[in-house]
Amino acid sequence: MLTTTRQQAQASPKSRAQFKFFRRNMRMDARRRPPKSSRTTSSNDGGPLHPHHKQLAPSVDDRSLSPTPKASDALPLPLYLTNAIFFTLFFSVAYYLLHRWRDKIRNSTPLHVVTFAEIAAIVSLMASFIYLLGFFGIDFVQSFITRPSHDAWDLEDTANPSYLINEDHRLVTCPPTANTPPIPKLPNPEPIITPLASVEDEEIVKSVTEGTLPSYSLESKLGDCKRAAVIRREALQRITGRSLEGLPVEGFDYDSVLGQCCEMPVGYVQIPVGIAGPLLLNGMEYMVPMATTEGCLVASTNRGCKAMYASGGATSVLLADGMTRAPVVRFETAKRASELKLFLEEPDNFDTLSIVFNRSSRFARLQGIKCSMAGKNLYMRFKCSTGDAMGMNMVSKGVQNVLDFLQSDFHDMEVIGISEVNGACMFHNWLGNFCSDKKPAAVNWIEGRGKSVVCEAIIKEEIVKKVLKTSVASLVELNMLKNLAGSAVAGALGGFNAHASNIVSAIFIATGQDPAQNIESSHCITMMEAVNNGKDLHVSVTMPSIEVGTVGGGTQLASQSACLNLLGVKGASKESPGSNSRLLASIVAGSVLAGELSLMAAIAQGQLVKSHMKYNRSSRDISEAASS
Ligand code: ADP
Repeated sequence: MLTTTRQQAQASPKSRAQFKFFRRNMRMDARRRPPKSSRTTSSNDGGPLHPHHKQLAPSVDDRSLSPTPKASDALPLPLYLTNAIFFTLFFSVAYYLLHRWRDKIRNSTPLHVVTFAEIAAIVSLMASFIYLLGFFGIDFVQSFITRPSHDAWDLEDTANPSYLINEDHRLVTCPPTANTPPIPKLPNPEPIITPLASVEDEEIVKSVTEGTLPSYSLESKLGDCKRAAVIRREALQRITGRSLEGLPVEGFDYDSVLGQCCEMPVGYVQIPVGIAGPLLLNGMEYMVPMATTEGCLVASTNRGCKAMYASGGATSVLLADGMTRAPVVRFETAKRASELKLFLEEPDNFDTLSIVFNRSSRFARLQGIKCSMAGKNLYMRFKCSTGDAMGMNMVSKGVQNVLDFLQSDFHDMEVIGISEVNGACMFHNWLGNFCSDKKPAAVNWIEGRGKSVVCEAIIKEEIVKKVLKTSVASLVELNMLKNLAGSAVAGALGGFNAHASNIVSAIFIATGQDPAQNIESSHCITMMEAVNNGKDLHVSVTMPSIEVGTVGGGTQLASQSACLNLLGVKGASKESPGSNSRLLASIVAGSVLAGELSLMAAIAQGQLVKSHMKYNRSSRDISEAASS
């Protein structure tokens, strides 16, 4: 980001001035930052071992993302230091003057006879009083000039900045540049007007459409999430002139998503949930909910379940269970970075680090830290068990505890991108992508992330023929050509399968998982071999990074929670924390196995196109449907 800004600064005098302002602002921001992260002292955290905290140096990214000038930037010293000086001055001179006053009354000295020291004290008292008044005044004024824009999108107020939403879903702003293209305006179609229930609601819609009431503030203004959604939806239709008919608004509990799952709702999308099963896995039967709009998918998975059931079911083994987070820290030299690497990898230090880490939650248990370096930057991949939660928040808190702890021994460690906003620690770009979340990466494929599961079944020859309508030899050959050699030719990363992601996504959506984590959760290698003298088929799926939870996120919503209930894995397991989420991961792998079997059989038999034409293509006239 800094490089980009530099290039822009060289481009024109205007942007050079902008760059200078930007750099000054970055320096001010560095001085202004308070030394302690308040986030680490939350009740859950337990706090770091060391009572004193070191100031976190701001990173390039961090600084460049805070371009808004603040009134307190004008101070020559860091804000906290200036405050401390003036507070001390105010109270000490006040004490001194009161003392002198008492002496004068005792000695009957006239009050107006003052010494040079008393004059100096009076001047200091007034100066510090004016400063303190000014300080609170600055904060008050600042609350107007820097609006909290974490949930707002107001182009006029921010003089046309570009907005970015980073990996951790925080909204941050970038300054406008000379190259910022003009924002295209929507055409102005006729407004669609649906009369609302009350005159008051009509007034509110009008305020939203006119821009006098921000749409994002409706929930807090009205105290009624459903009413807020209806009003927002109506305002949206009127502003865009586009109908939202078909997107239902009734019949959803908007309170349940507030502050947790979705901002500014205007309705909800309906996705049908189909059932595949029974899936016979480790001797237990499961009916698997799949939310999808792809015809054939549920039917195909169901057929795979049938073949597995008739052959005695599948067996799964959980190989590992640990969520990861990887911050990046920077030093002046690669040598110093390597010293921290050695410190973290020293087995004697692990116990201390895990005590610090585990304070984040009663469910978080540190398993290991894997380090990788790039020059003087150190990437630390923390792995920990997270009970029944998918665990991203939990592991992030633990990582923060460890970083605070390390800072006291590695003063020169620069934690990239941790910033303080209004006294609260904001997580943003310190996540170094070595985790790696929601992106295809070899590290997840090789090291695993979340739950690593292998699932296998032996499908009898007659079942392959009767249910799957193909032969063992055809399946084995196809698997070699398609899932192994074909994927190798394509340079696949974790994609040595036919369609694992189809099943993973459908179960993820039905059970309230984060659908974006389908990327690494679908890493899968499907193996097929003829066994029992070449008669039967041994099939397996190995999935190293299935990221699922049964508490937190979307799992608590009514529909998703009902699907978890169907599988018997709803919420937190009381008897054995973590067992619900581990079972869910095994069910995902078992269903993938069923899906792989069935699709591979369809391809081997040349049935794929035929069945898609039957189940995936509506017999209705598509052009008619589209126009209506
Ligand atoms: P995530 O990390 O997946 O985003 P959170 O950490 O936000 O999820 O949510 C997990 C919350 O649920 C934590 O506050 C944790 O204390 C609580 N919790 C209750 N029971 C369990 C359990 N069995 N396993 C994990 N977390 C649990």
